[in-house]
Amino acid sequence: MSKNQKNNIIDAEYAELLPFPTFIINEEGTITQWSTTAEIAFDTSQEAIIDQSMTVLANYFTDTFPFKTLQELSNKPKASQLTEISVKTKDGSSMRADFVTQSCTYQGQKSLLCAVVFEDTNVNGAVLLKELVDMRLALDETQMLVTLDHEGFILAANDNFLRASAWTPKRIIGKSFWQLFPDKTHGNTIPEQIWRSLQQGNVWHGEAEQLTKNGSTYWTALTAIPTYCLIRKTSRFILLCQDISHTKNELTKLQKYAYVDAETGLHNSYWLEDEITKLVKEQREFSFVYLSIDKFYTIKELHSSELQESLGSLFKQRLETYFQDSTIVRINEIDFALLTSLSDWFIEGFLHYLEKNPIYYERVALPISISGGITRFPSAFTTYTQLMKTSTATVAKVRSEGGNKIVSLTPAHHRQLNRKSLLETRLLKALDEKNLQVLYQPQIDGKTNAIVGVEAFVRWHDEVVGTVSPGELIPLAEETGLIHQIGLFVLREACLQAVKWSEAGTPIKVSVNSSVREFRDKNMASSVMKILQETQCPPTLLYFEITEKFALEAEFASSIQTQLEQLEQLGVSFVLDDFGTGYGSFRYMQILPITSVKVDETFIHATHKSPKTKRLVHSMVQLGKNLGLTVVAEGVETKEQWHYLASIDCDIIQGYIISKPVTANAISEKLHNA
Ligand code: C2E
Ligand code: MG
Ligand code: MG
Repeated sequence: MSKNQKNNIIDAEYAELLPFPTFIINEEGTITQWSTTAEIAFDTSQEAIIDQSMTVLANYFTDTFPFKTLQELSNKPKASQLTEISVKTKDGSSMRADFVTQSCTYQGQKSLLCAVVFEDTNVNGAVLLKELVDMRLALDETQMLVTLDHEGFILAANDNFLRASAWTPKRIIGKSFWQLFPDKTHGNTIPEQIWRSLQQGNVWHGEAEQLTKNGSTYWTALTAIPTYCLIRKTSRFILLCQDISHTKNELTKLQKYAYVDAETGLHNSYWLEDEITKLVKEQREFSFVYLSIDKFYTIKELHSSELQESLGSLFKQRLETYFQDSTIVRINEIDFALLTSLSDWFIEGFLHYLEKNPIYYERVALPISISGGITRFPSAFTTYTQLMKTSTATVAKVRSEGGNKIVSLTPAHHRQLNRKSLLETRLLKALDEKNLQVLYQPQIDGKTNAIVGVEAFVRWHDEVVGTVSPGELIPLAEETGLIHQIGLFVLREACLQAVKWSEAGTPIKVSVNSSVREFRDKNMASSVMKILQETQCPPTLLYFEITEKFALEAEFASSIQTQLEQLEQLGVSFVLDDFGTGYGSFRYMQILPITSVKVDETFIHATHKSPKTKRLVHSMVQLGKNLGLTVVAEGVETKEQWHYLASIDCDIIQGYIISKPVTANAISEKLHNA
């Protein structure tokens, strides 16, 4: 059997997925897993058999069972074997069964997965089952397979998948479905389409771009299959993928060579790149228009599959009729571009034209809306890549605001977006070189004025882009996924510092801001625990600040809630940041383990500007206290605000009036002098 099967990584849930009695034996011959179906079939509970030597299996099989062979198998696991055996039933008689084994990695150990497939009295059923098992084994050998639970977390992945995606067996379990694909800002992406299909119980098939652990991409022919686990009574999903990067790359090369989009006969993006480069060089005056079809995939899903091919061509006809004498380019399935000398108002009029002249499919008018951006040349950008980046970012923004709009891009837009792409590259470097800094702002007790805690803020100063504020850095880091690395860096620094202050005899609590994206990773709680352990930081000194937006999402995501609860049980606390600015939902206050609220600075700043706000602040403080929460006021800038907050019993005060965010050493001095 092929070597590449040795790494099939599985977890306990996987054994439960199989429709017959299943157990796992490790290299030492110890039974490490026993499925619920095995419990029923052999009338033996998991507690009774797990950790026993496999010799106990002799109790369940008659002498026809090739016991020696199993021992040999577990010593030197081969991939799969089918052997006929005889199983002792509860009433003392025996029953024929097939014994199927497969090598795997379970709990980090090389192991053998064993399944007992009974030759039921229902012969058809047995034949079918055997066929299914054979098919599954063959798929395992030839395809990439990933099994997901109902929330989209990975339960199992085979070796073919691990190889293509560069994930290690240990890391892949618990990652989410979304992490398998590039994070495109465009609405209704392929992953969203797949996920929706699975949720509706439908099989999805198509081509998808997937992401390796290292951030590079590869193309697969992907079949997503919804299934149901009868024992756990929850949905499961299987992704069956075949790497088609090679064919795709060949096609790309061909298209590049031909300069033509195969479906519509329009110029393609390779042609566009050369043309734009030429026009820019010649300093020609023209408009570049980027047009993207909103909800394209929804339209495809709602109508027949034949439409998939023709929608591009139908849309091309509308473009050609309206934009006569302009050059039309197809960039990808849903995006088109124009090179034109027409004016902005005429270009924007295309939306109106499309409304009056809709695309018909089987006599039904398709509700097509467009998001677009116009750039007039010569402009602030200098390269094709910059132009495309700015255009796609603009289209994504227009779409997120409801779509069906074409906007004109000013040189300022281009400059702003250029800065963004520069920041992205610099940030990677900064993380690599640990070029980030953490500053701390003291929090004082409203009554005693003693420093009781600090809030940690990330700071980034880059030699090329200058100082980048968290307001700019955090959204960018969230978009690129780098927030995980930044978050863990700040957390580690903060924990190390908390330990130092504690050891100096001045223990204070450290609050760390966290983004909901960090907790979407199922491994976040364990990463936090690991850092607490490594830094020897007592969990009771650590506070996480979560925003109302975070809380709202957590309310509906059981895996985020579970992680917060795990940390809470350890002694970590949670603060609701920006209290009052969000969605005014009190439900999450009951569900999430929040122990403090932080009244947002906008209310504090306006306290003495309007009597109404003053009363509002008073009510917010009282509300928090009535709920048994600690109330913090942030952004306190004047003595007047401070005294007022103290007079209404606000527990903790934080703001420039006390101190701006400063270095850890400056905090140590303040603690020392207190
Ligand atoms: P936040 O957690 O609500 O932090 C309060 C912001 O107000 C901080 O800005 C702080 O420096 C500033 N501030 C403090 N006192 C005063 C004051 O008296 N007056 C005024 N006008 N401002 C005051 P900063 O450091 O720029 O951070 C902005 C936001 O970025 C933070 O809002 C937080 O949501 C986020 N952030 C900062 N560091 C991190 C981090 O390490 N991780 C994550 N996920 N988010 C962070
Ligand atoms: Mg905060
Ligand atoms: Mg805040």
